Amino acid sequence: MAVESLEFKAEVKQLLDLMVHSLYSHKEIFLRELISNASDAIDKARYESLTNGDILEGDGEWKIKITADKDAGTLTIHDNGIGMTREEIIEALGTIAHSGTQDFIKALRDRETKNDPGLIGQFGVGFYSSFMIADKVTVLSRKAGRKDKKGVKWESSSDGAFTVEDIEKADKGTDIILHIKKEEKKYLNEEEIRDIVKRYSDYIEHPIVMDVEREKESTIEKGQKYTVREEERLNSGKAIWLKPKSEVSQDEYTEFYKHISGDFSEPADVIHYRAEGTSEFTALLYIPSRAPINILYKDYKIGPALYVKRVRIMDHCEDLLPVYLRFVKGVVDSSDLPLNVSRELLQNNRYITVIRKNITKLVLDTIADMKKNDPAKYLNFYREFGRVLKEGIHFDFSRREQIADLLLFESTKKEPGEYVSLQEYVYNMKEGQEDIYYITGASRNEIITSPYLEAFKEKDYEVLIMLDEIDDIIMTGLGTYKGKKLKSAVKGDLDLDKSGEDDKKKARKEYEKLIELISNRLKDDVKEVRLSGRLKDSACCLVADEGGMDPQMEKLMKAMGQDIPASKRILEINPSHPVIETMNALFEDNKNNRLLEEFTDLLYNQALLLEGSKPKDPTAFTKAVAELMVDKTKRLQA
Ligand code: ADP
Repeated sequence: MAVESLEFKAEVKQLLDLMVHSLYSHKEIFLRELISNASDAIDKARYESLTNGDILEGDGEWKIKITADKDAGTLTIHDNGIGMTREEIIEALGTIAHSGTQDFIKALRDRETKNDPGLIGQFGVGFYSSFMIADKVTVLSRKAGRKDKKGVKWESSSDGAFTVEDIEKADKGTDIILHIKKEEKKYLNEEEIRDIVKRYSDYIEHPIVMDVEREKESTIEKGQKYTVREEERLNSGKAIWLKPKSEVSQDEYTEFYKHISGDFSEPADVIHYRAEGTSEFTALLYIPSRAPINILYKDYKIGPALYVKRVRIMDHCEDLLPVYLRFVKGVVDSSDLPLNVSRELLQNNRYITVIRKNITKLVLDTIADMKKNDPAKYLNFYREFGRVLKEGIHFDFSRREQIADLLLFESTKKEPGEYVSLQEYVYNMKEGQEDIYYITGASRNEIITSPYLEAFKEKDYEVLIMLDEIDDIIMTGLGTYKGKKLKSAVKGDLDLDKSGEDDKKKARKEYEKLIELISNRLKDDVKEVRLSGRLKDSACCLVADEGGMDPQMEKLMKAMGQDIPASKRILEINPSHPVIETMNALFEDNKNNRLLEEFTDLLYNQALLLEGSKPKDPTAFTKAVAELMVDKTKRLQA
């Protein structure tokens, strides 16, 4: 087939543009990215070779080779891994197969990329980083296992298009040939390359080699020196998770983290654990300090990499950790599993179950320690991952108390940005307060002035502020904490005042008839009308049933186009508010007064506005308010 010219997908074009023009200060990471790809390709080939020996052509020694050619101005990264077919190379190097790419590109543009290199790599843009230092990139590849030496050549000058062409290639694997930019020639220096490999890729298991020139002394003629080119291994290749803890420095842990996560910031915590006895495995796990942009997306890859006796079996093994700990990155190496274990086998594998149980506990304990011993660090962790961790209350029934201990919330007694834990909340509960109260809403400002909090303010009770859309589900799922019920301030009947039962009875009797009239008028809109235990200054509000759906959640689901059954709310009225008193007086004077119906509608519309909804009939509502304004003015002028 002749040379075929193809356009990059739009996202790739944007990304390449950013790469080419980036002021990025860590350009040398391109080499780490390419070595990492080469190493992955070898892992894949090695894994395949366990089930299909044919792939093991050649000398069978896995290797990554770097060649710098100063005359040609090229740097080549060669691997004898899995390789790519023509179709695969078009897909792999012409598109970005991640959702959220647009968000990522935007973030790259918005943030000072120069000071925030952590973003690159998170989205698998690794290969494209070559264009930071090369004005042209040529890729030669041949898929492992092919008998006919048919390979493919891919080439691009990052100008929006690339070419592909069939070629003959002698060996399996991939050569990435970088035509180094004039101003970046330092990347052709042996010393520079050696340094970069040592710094970023020392722990890569496969040998990374380079031909270097060495002076040797002749053994025949004493004193006579001559130069030879020899292959030198640049990396030590030690799997750092298999080393004893005492032999791994903090820097090594951090570098390894950066390598596996693509994140450039320091991890918040490192867990290095070796289990011996009935189950033998090693885990090196990291709790990041910053959430990847795509952590809430569907295609976010969950789980640490799985190795069996140093052989990488899988990049992400979902079965090793529960979904709510999906921020954890790392490596698990098992000695018990067979090398050719398949995805299906992993799902109900008893070894995996044991490892999962162990590391889930390790991670939760580490997080709990962080909370206890380093509150500032914990706060940062919680801001990044609290939203994800919380899901555990819903999904991990057996550990929900333990997870509840880790939660933090904003509250009516804290300044914005400060948090309270459930332990602290319970400790600070007022005398006579029996339950834990929370309120959901879209923003703190909206919540803090809401009429739903009036009775709590009067009693000086603390109310937890919940701003995540999943909070109500989480709290309902938790149900109780340390024997105290969790109650939503916007749901169910509230009765903070246990005293004064007689007064309440009297009020109910006094307003019985008015309530009946309002109920009749609003029978299509509300489920019930009752006197309120939560209002002090406002006349009315709408609340959901105790077990009903949170209004916040309902709004969200509607916005997402979900068809949810309309749930009628309860209208609560405040008997000590002048409006309600006035209406009652009107009623007693003449129960057929037309104003009563008009006022009932106005009342209901106010309640809708207070919960953040639109009035039922905005035109009628504004007309009624306008009339009231005119009336008031007339009265003032009279
Ligand atoms: P990522 O490695 O995060 O997927 P890259 O942009 O670095 O993102 O690479 C895109 C894809 O190209 C890889 O997923 C892989 O399928 C393919 N690829 C890159 N380099 C190689 C290589 N040396 N050998 C085989 N495939 C490769």
